[in-house]
Amino acid sequence: MSSVDIIVPCYNEEAVLETFYRVTEETLSSMTGYQFTYIFVDDGSRDSTLAKMKALAKSHSNVRYLSFSRNFGKEAAMYAGLKHSSGDLVIVMDADLQHPPAMIPEMMKGIEEGYDCAAARRTTRAGESRIRSAFSNLFYRVSNKMSDVKMPQDAVDFRIMTRQMVNSILELSEVERFSKGIFAWVGFDTKWYPYENVERTLGTTKWSFRGLLKYAIDGITSFSISPLRLVSGMGFLISIVAFIYIIATLIQTLIFGIDVPGYVTTLCAVLFLGGIIELSIGILGEYIAHIYMEAKDRPIYIIKSTNLSDRDGKHESE
Ligand code: UDP
Ligand code: MG
Repeated sequence: MSSVDIIVPCYNEEAVLETFYRVTEETLSSMTGYQFTYIFVDDGSRDSTLAKMKALAKSHSNVRYLSFSRNFGKEAAMYAGLKHSSGDLVIVMDADLQHPPAMIPEMMKGIEEGYDCAAARRTTRAGESRIRSAFSNLFYRVSNKMSDVKMPQDAVDFRIMTRQMVNSILELSEVERFSKGIFAWVGFDTKWYPYENVERTLGTTKWSFRGLLKYAIDGITSFSISPLRLVSGMGFLISIVAFIYIIATLIQTLIFGIDVPGYVTTLCAVLFLGGIIELSIGILGEYIAHIYMEAKDRPIYIIKSTNLSDRDGKHESE
């Protein structure tokens, strides 16, 4: 009998929590040889999500919950769940039923075959805005080009992992976590399960465009230093061009004398270089911001209440 922990990050999911539990339980009840425990992570919800979790925990012995002191984000919620899991296997999935529980039995077969991880990827993005899909495509293209860590396009945070892989993930203690990259970075053999996007029927998406943009920039700068190389490369190229131009201008001045007009050239050069310099400082700034956040080494989340007995209210900072 293998023990399996199901980690479910929840932020304002009162509309779907009970349905999620019921539907998932229905699917899992047909699976033999596994003992499932739910770890719901309440990411500082402002609705009755926590009350619903408590009610579930009261009536079902396989429900655990952790509740944060405020909204720390999905990454923190997943990390907290992983940290508090003890199962031989761990499943991570969303609460909104966009990660079909019906896939779990099939994905579990991948683990039985000997894979360390069974993960889902979306083949379609039906129901998602065009702009969001376009930016998502761009992100994966840029990110996979720049980084050694290749993230499969459209991988979602729905996966089953072995204890060994989870422990490896927990060893990456960075404060600014980008799980899609971390999952890829730790390696191990992953079997992919394609599925068609399911539209959210209950509750609403928690992502804003700004949030996704920040997520994308963090994703690239957390796993690649190519943007920094790009800056050096640009500086090098511009220096060569400038050097040639200086020599040419000097020779011209020596031979033909001073040629006063040059307003446009000067203006273009100043504006162009100004732009490049600003951009370079911005890129450097992104990395310094990461160093700053990591150096402060603040806890990734703070638990306010939980029914995981031994960890009650513990301030997690390791
Ligand atoms: N979520 C979370 N904290 C947040 C935002 C989201 O724990 O700050 C959870 C949310 O409750 C859901 C999952 O992360 O279970 C995915 O969120 P959502 O469905 O809003 O994202 P989408 O499916 O639109 O990418
Ligand atoms: Mg969703």
